[in-house]
Amino acid sequence: DLFYRQLPKVELHAHLNGSVSFSTIQKLMDRKPHLNIQHNMTAIRNGQKRTLDECFQVFKVIHQLVDTEEDILMVSKDVIREFADDGVKYLELRSTPREEKNSGMTKRSYIHTIMEAIRQCKNEGLDIEVRFLVAVDRRNGVEVAMETVKLAEEFMLATDGLVVGLDLSGDPTVSHGRDLLPALQKAKNCGLKLSLHLSEVPSQGEESELLLNIPPDRIGHGTFLHPEVGGSQSLVDQVRKNNIPLELCLTSNVKGQTVASYSEHHFLYWYQMEHPSVICTDDKGVFCTDLSQEYHLAASAFSLTQEDMWGHSFKAIDCIFAPDSIKQHLRQRWLELRPALF
Ligand code: IMP
Repeated sequence: DLFYRQLPKVELHAHLNGSVSFSTIQKLMDRKPHLNIQHNMTAIRNGQKRTLDECFQVFKVIHQLVDTEEDILMVSKDVIREFADDGVKYLELRSTPREEKNSGMTKRSYIHTIMEAIRQCKNEGLDIEVRFLVAVDRRNGVEVAMETVKLAEEFMLATDGLVVGLDLSGDPTVSHGRDLLPALQKAKNCGLKLSLHLSEVPSQGEESELLLNIPPDRIGHGTFLHPEVGGSQSLVDQVRKNNIPLELCLTSNVKGQTVASYSEHHFLYWYQMEHPSVICTDDKGVFCTDLSQEYHLAASAFSLTQEDMWGHSFKAIDCIFAPDSIKQHLRQRWLELRPALF
């Protein structure tokens, strides 16, 4: 829909390797035919659903395809270009640094290459501001988390504000956030903003309570925080007291089956409470979507007007991790770019 494409948008929850499009996957498959990977192993088409566990298998397949610095550069530039084409004016990408012994890629060169992609896109004149969150995969344990925080801090200081924060993600059924608290606390203390995946599956309430005490600067998903779905009022109160925005990814949650249907998505719970939230894509490649489509789907599911969605996109600027000067600049641009309502 033209309106949602023209609407200037902020994307705050996008995992790099989950955001790789069909056409980029094709280029990667052409580079590595011996892997014999098919498109149905890297994307969940419309009308299809998977268990969350199967979703995490998909990331493993994509990681096989993206295992050199050259791949990371191409994938990052393609993803940034695609978000720009979709009308995203400010993007926070996140990715888990990986080392690949075969190709010589290190965690440091992994991040370095993404920084290079961001700079190249800027030099090519793409109309999009990009920032980066270094991701901690909860599966990898305490030591790796600590090491990742150090890398994130190092890049934050070296890149003049391109690295703005730390993300905690990965299979929510693996390990306990309690063990990662010291690493997360350290990240917060050195000035990294924190976006934590919280209550993505049921019965993570105890972990969410611990993590909310830090407190994080944003929450990923938060699907099972509220009492109507087995969360609790005290968790909701904690989120509201600290005014922590939620990053909400409708198609991801429906296709990963943590939410039964679009109209049952917890977007509505927080929207009605006027609590800050931001519609995001999560993994636009894996879930075959883009941000304008997510805006359109939310509008349809909850009978919101284009005016409402304009307001949503404008208020999303409040939730970005870049400093106030960037926020002011974006608000100005939003007013210039405001599309006519249909
Ligand atoms: P990468 O960090 O760029 O490699 O992007 C893929 C990774 O993002 C996955 O391996 C997961 O760790 C993480 N991820 C993507 N989607 C989700 C999600 O819905 N929940 C938790 N983690 C996720």
